[in-house]
Amino acid sequence: MTDFIRNHLSTLKQSSVSTKRAIKKVGRGKVNKSRLPSPSDFYRQFNITLKGGCGWQMVKCPFHDDNHASMGVNHEHGGYKCHACGASGDAIGFYMQWHNASFIDACRALQLIEEA
Ligand SMILES: [Zn+2]
Repeated sequence: MTDFIRNHLSTLKQSSVSTKRAIKKVGRGKVNKSRLPSPSDFYRQFNITLKGGCGWQMVKCPFHDDNHASMGVNHEHGGYKCHACGASGDAIGFYMQWHNASFIDACRALQLIEEA
C-alpha cells in the first residue's frame, strides 16, 4: 500500500468516527439556524464580498471555474444558486459544499447546535 492510500484511508476512518460522535450529540441538541452570522459576515469568510443591498447579488462562483459572476447570493437569507454549474443551497449547504462536510459536521463547525 502506498503512503498516499494509507493516509487517505486513515482520513476516511477519522471522519466517519467524528460523524458518528456528532450524530449522538445532535440527538441531544438541536440545530439553531438563527445562530448563523449575517450573510455578508458569513460569505466574507469565503472571500465573497456582499455589498450593502437587498435581494440577490451576483458573485463569482467558487465551485466551478467561473470567469464572470454566475452565482447569486441572497442578502436576506444567505441562500446561493449558481446559474452555470447548478450549485445551490442555504448557508449551511455552502459550508458543506466548500469543505466537503456532512450536514452535522457543518452545524458543529458553525456552532449551530444547542444542547438540549
Ligand atoms: Zn458554479
